[in-house]
Amino acid sequence: MKMFDTIAAIATPIGSGGVAIIRVSGENAESAAQSVVSLRCGKPLKEAENRRLYLADAHKAGDKSAVLDEALVSVMRAPHSYTGETVVEINCHGGWLAADSILKEILASDARLAEAGEFTRRAFVNGKTDLIGAEAVMDIIDSNSGLGLSNAAKSRGGALSRKIDAAREGILAITAEIAAAADYPEEVDPLPADETAALIGAAAKRIDELIAGFETGKILRDGIAAVIAGRPNVGKSSLMNALTRSDRAIVTSIPGTTRDTVEGVINIKGAAMRLLDTAGIRGETDDEIERIGIDRALKWIDKADLCIFVADSSEALTGEDMRIIEALKGKTCVCALNKTDISAKARLTKKELAEKTGIDIADIIETAAPENGEARGIEALESRIADKFALGKISGSDVYVSNARQRDSLIKARKALGLALEGAQNGAPFDLLYIDLEDALSALGEVTGMTVQEEIIDNVFSRFCVGK
Ligand code: GDP
Repeated sequence: MKMFDTIAAIATPIGSGGVAIIRVSGENAESAAQSVVSLRCGKPLKEAENRRLYLADAHKAGDKSAVLDEALVSVMRAPHSYTGETVVEINCHGGWLAADSILKEILASDARLAEAGEFTRRAFVNGKTDLIGAEAVMDIIDSNSGLGLSNAAKSRGGALSRKIDAAREGILAITAEIAAAADYPEEVDPLPADETAALIGAAAKRIDELIAGFETGKILRDGIAAVIAGRPNVGKSSLMNALTRSDRAIVTSIPGTTRDTVEGVINIKGAAMRLLDTAGIRGETDDEIERIGIDRALKWIDKADLCIFVADSSEALTGEDMRIIEALKGKTCVCALNKTDISAKARLTKKELAEKTGIDIADIIETAAPENGEARGIEALESRIADKFALGKISGSDVYVSNARQRDSLIKARKALGLALEGAQNGAPFDLLYIDLEDALSALGEVTGMTVQEEIIDNVFSRFCVGK
């Protein structure tokens, strides 16, 4: 275990709450904490039992009479702690001032403020977690859906790392055979080329499966980013309200970061869907301000995983509708044919809309979101969206790669295996295969953090919050 300089931070969020936790980790964790806490039982901290909670007074550094709060204190000595170093945790009352005052006293004694992610980085350096497990901590903290949380918890528990290890072991077995045959040619026969190719193919298949799971994993982690698009007055905002007011809403509609977007998050079959209402979409315009709004909306559409195109069933399709459809070409779309509660002479039907726009009729859902009436078709719309992303097929027992960094390294590994496979099939010399297989191993090592560069590690931990 490496023991670094001592760091401290408040590990709980800012705000009022029952409890706040100040975490201290490093070679002087006990002495730094000792200067600000006195156990009521009278024992010095260094005599405290490992991983037991003690009632204590938290006070100004070195001044027992200047009590700041009542606290519960535990010492987790190296290596049995989150970071692998000696950690002291001080649980005081929630509320910013108590925790902040205690932290300031610790920082004035023998510790410095932890950087974002520094506790988890130390856990990684000390082998308490691999990089997948460290990244999963952040995913657990950020998760916004049941399926996302469960996937992150499985990653944290090592399920994904075990899959990567299984692929690594498959490749290691081949390199071991190659090395043995090269080192002891009299005793070990080289593996037949077809057998080598079959083994490489099996390892490649495992990696293909992991890469293929990324689309699902990304949805579990980040949710589906959906944009509601349509010309003015077709009912986009009303539909957005109906969707976010449904039982599945986990956050009601909240003002977005810009004046022309409104965001909400709903839960579809255990996955999160972030909805963005692009009030800015119009057809062509000469108005400069409006143009900026449209450009921004088009950018959102470009980035979105899903577009919900809204059309007004009580009016004929317009040129403006068609221009928006044009902008949605190539995107995953569903269409809400809205205002079906209004009786109109020339009703726009599903069939007509499908024929004129090329939208698959199965993707057109009739809806209504009247201001003072009951919304209709919302469940059907959600169900169609769930089908488009195969949310019903997501296996609760499987674990999915959800992180682009991990996916990119897997792709690198797969490319190297592809070269090795080609070589094996074409009878290339074994030492050439060996180089490709080593490249594949190194790329897999990047996924778990075994062979990763400092720069990548910096990047991973820059996403973290202070105190984690
Ligand atoms: P947006 O400009 O596309 O966001 O459209 P709004 O959601 O602001 O709706 C425009 C008008 O149509 C409002 O007066 C809504 O109350 C009304 N509206 C929207 N959807 C429906 C619907 O399904 N039925 C009826 N009767 N009115 C609707």
